[in-house]
Amino acid sequence: MQERRKFKKRFCKYCETKVDYIDFKDVAQFKFSLSERFKIMPRRLTGNCKKHQELVTIAIKRARQTALIPYIVDRKNVVENPFEIIK
Ligand SMILES: [Zn+2]
Repeated sequence: MQERRKFKKRFCKYCETKVDYIDFKDVAQFKFSLSERFKIMPRRLTGNCKKHQELVTIAIKRARQTALIPYIVDRKNVVENPFEIIK
């Protein structure tokens, strides 16, 4: 049985684009690392390297505190693409 994977290739998206700093105000930069319920995706799913996963985690936590992204999403509010709300 083949597992259905959300992410096909396992490579760090941030290493590929040579990002060395992730700004917490730039939601588009770390939206790959958020699930549809705004949870931080684990590294084994996104394929991020350790360095960038740590940067992403810090950025997401800061973005939550500054109310750029929600902490939790109610079951009713789950939509197909949550990033449409942010824009
Ligand atoms: Zn990386």
